[in-house]
Amino acid sequence: MLLSDLLNEKLENISTNEALCSTSCPVCRARQTLAAATTDQSDDLETIYICQEGCSRILTVSARTEPDAPLEKGYRIGLWMIRNPRDLFVLPSQTAQKGIRLPACKDALVE
Ligand SMILES: [Zn+2]
Repeated sequence: MLLSDLLNEKLENISTNEALCSTSCPVCRARQTLAAATTDQSDDLETIYICQEGCSRILTVSARTEPDAPLEKGYRIGLWMIRNPRDLFVLPSQTAQKGIRLPACKDALVE
């Protein structure tokens, strides 16, 4: 499940894509869109975005986290959890002027 697929499916008035979503790497701090990041979709229940420089996970969209996981670990949407170690910015559409910010989750990289 890509982040954009999850947001488009579960939230109203959103038609975003990976190029409209950005965050930064907790290691090298490079700001990047999710389209620029490396995506690992080999697990149907967990999509991992890795820094374009290869340093670290920058975002995970997972259905493997426990249902009552604390907010420090991520944001729950339906069965899925968005886990971002740095602030995540989402433009709701190609023409949107204003983005949505999901503040960083302190324990996003903690299993
Ligand atoms: Zn990096």
